[in-house]
Amino acid sequence: EFGPWQRALRDQFPIITGNPELAYLDSAATSQKPQAVLDAVQAQLTTANANAGRGSYPWANATTALVADTRDRIRTFLDDPDPARSAVHFTGGTTEALRVLAQDWLPELLRDGDEIVVPFADHEANLSPWLEARDRLARQGVRIRVREMPYQTSSGDYDPAALAELTGPRTRFVAATHVHHVYGGNMNVHLIRRAVGPDVPICLDAAQSIGHLPVSVAELDVDFVAFSGHKALALPGSGALWARQARGPEFVPGGWRGSPNTTGVASLAAALDWLEAAGTDRIARWTVALAARLSDGLRQLDAYEILGCQRSLPVDSPVQQRCGIVTLRHRDIGARDLGFILFSHGFMVRTDGHCQGRAGERSSSVRVSLHVYNTPEEIDRLLAVLVSLA
Ligand code: PMP
Repeated sequence: EFGPWQRALRDQFPIITGNPELAYLDSAATSQKPQAVLDAVQAQLTTANANAGRGSYPWANATTALVADTRDRIRTFLDDPDPARSAVHFTGGTTEALRVLAQDWLPELLRDGDEIVVPFADHEANLSPWLEARDRLARQGVRIRVREMPYQTSSGDYDPAALAELTGPRTRFVAATHVHHVYGGNMNVHLIRRAVGPDVPICLDAAQSIGHLPVSVAELDVDFVAFSGHKALALPGSGALWARQARGPEFVPGGWRGSPNTTGVASLAAALDWLEAAGTDRIARWTVALAARLSDGLRQLDAYEILGCQRSLPVDSPVQQRCGIVTLRHRDIGARDLGFILFSHGFMVRTDGHCQGRAGERSSSVRVSLHVYNTPEEIDRLLAVLVSLA
């Protein structure tokens, strides 16, 4: 079923087909771009480039419409249950989206003595903005208690018992993550909704899930989604914050809003079209199968430690629990050295602490992260090199 489907998609990534001797295994850092996205950028810049929301001649109207249409495109892509009500704010990526929310919306929500729950072992981008908001409020005499999101590293999921204990009537906001960028867990966001009840806003960092698996805000029952275009086949510097506008104060990004990144917006619209045509559910099954192939191979080798859920989840566990990220360490070879060795064989992987927040891993690791253009042959070649080093 997957063979011709995947080959046809892989063939649409010029940087992949143009470098057959290399294997790009760092898509959690940034994704490669299909020809359709490159064409959309070229078309926008060569046929109708103008600023959005300003002029009233045809190119300006076309660019204004592109921005409005892409907002709707994002709503549809996210399975927005109430698109007439929600807001889509374009940002440079996930980091900026979370910062805007923490600066422009969170202070409106919080009162003295309130509590928020945030992840300390996830990406720093989903920790610092909340702590900085707390500190700013403290300087105004508003004391907010920040609770650490309880998290089961081994299963790569939230800890329902600990969540139930930690949350209560003072809990006003939760910052969650959909897919963990190191532990490879596709996390059960429903556990958070169950713990906090129907009234507490939840913000989802979807940096690692948009473009990799179906994301339905209706099904997840979350209030904000932050994501980066560059990790979802679009250009760097594109991204968005989707706001449901159903719980808490209205989200209105403050301050003077400058010119939007219209080229980035064009790339985002094309990327979402491409992903929808390819099928995010099939992309998820493909990358999860590749990750399982790698982690199964690694589990036979004593020299390697696998971090997070890919170590423990059974091979046939549902696709809903996993994603295409496998992070590992060698018993004797440091992560950076292992990265150099792997690149000498053509493999591009990430080798550091992966920007984890303050409760993250103490030592560096090697992260292999996959997208639809990766193949079982690449995994088998990688495993052969890892076996030779075991
Ligand atoms: N959150 C997660 C889970 C991530 O993996 C990343 C990127 N590594 C970010 C946030 C930050 O994304 P960006 O740098 O595109 O803003």
